[in-house]
Amino acid sequence: MNSTYPFRNQPLPFDFDALEPFIDAKTMRLHHNRHLQTYIDQLNTTLKDYPDYHSWTLTQLLQNIASLPVSIQQPVQRNAGGVFNHVFYFSHLIPNELSHPKGPLVDAIGKFYGTFDNFKQELTTAALSVFGSGYAWLVLNARGEFAILTLPNQDTPLPQNLCPLLTVDVWEHAYYLKHYNNRTAYLNDWFQVVNWQQVQKNYHTFFL
Ligand code: MN
Repeated sequence: MNSTYPFRNQPLPFDFDALEPFIDAKTMRLHHNRHLQTYIDQLNTTLKDYPDYHSWTLTQLLQNIASLPVSIQQPVQRNAGGVFNHVFYFSHLIPNELSHPKGPLVDAIGKFYGTFDNFKQELTTAALSVFGSGYAWLVLNARGEFAILTLPNQDTPLPQNLCPLLTVDVWEHAYYLKHYNNRTAYLNDWFQVVNWQQVQKNYHTFFL
């Protein structure tokens, strides 16, 4: 999230079919190469004539929307949000055989939510409650406590000074080709390909 204008779409660290059968290759390809790419292109177009902000990182843009010229506040919020959320979502996916829910972070989540399965159920319930398009998030608040929340469209937790740990995209484009309208089935499959090691890195970074 430290990149600056012009933003570029980085390749995924695995093949598009690497998450099969949980998330299909066609969905991954379209999601990365078209959906994310469109947000990147629109963000670059929005900022093109505003060189004052070409040195701002994605995070700086999203945390300081109110400092931007009014005319670009909404397109930056939507498109920088779309870039941030997708990069965050993709960077917390990993092939199933490398997804290991264990370690200090998983223990801490289990302690906070009673059990790790309770946490999964609470995140699933939150993700199912998103009406229309959006994301469910696991974050740390300013006191370092876990919290689950949902945000609509391409809103991000950054303006609320929350530290994102994990997110799941529940826009229909994230699952419709394979799971059709069955968001529950998608969420069960998504849990099979979560990059818990990356979530743990986020967790440790917060406390450093
Ligand atoms: Mn998406």
